[in-house]
Amino acid sequence: MAGRLLVLLRACTTTTTTTTTLRLRSNAVVRPLVRAMATAKGIPTDEEQATGLERRALQALKHGKDPYSMLKPKEYAGTKEEPHIVPCIGTKRLVGCLCEEDNTAIVWFWLHEGDAQRCPSCGSHYKLVHHELPH
Ligand SMILES: [Zn+2]
Repeated sequence: MAGRLLVLLRACTTTTTTTTTLRLRSNAVVRPLVRAMATAKGIPTDEEQATGLERRALQALKHGKDPYSMLKPKEYAGTKEEPHIVPCIGTKRLVGCLCEEDNTAIVWFWLHEGDAQRCPSCGSHYKLVHHELPH
């Protein structure tokens, strides 16, 4: 029935330019097309329809937190006053320093908990910061 009505409406729109017009039956009701998921409020936002982990991540981002490291890491100068922050769940972490922008080799070294340490090659400062994993 709906398919026939749609074909009939298409025929009406295509024949309006010609002299012959196609008339609908008197009992036919033409309703505007409405999507099944549409509501009176409109299309729901991502936050309204998110569930589970996605919902928790969106709520955390709303409060300025990034528990799942989804955002781009903040860049630091690498100086003694503003060292590169390295999040870690333990007491030490292996860090790779790409000392210069176009270097092809990475300098790897262990970063331990405590004061900031320097890269053995370029001298950039790195500091280990304890990080809790979200559950
Ligand atoms: Zn370096």
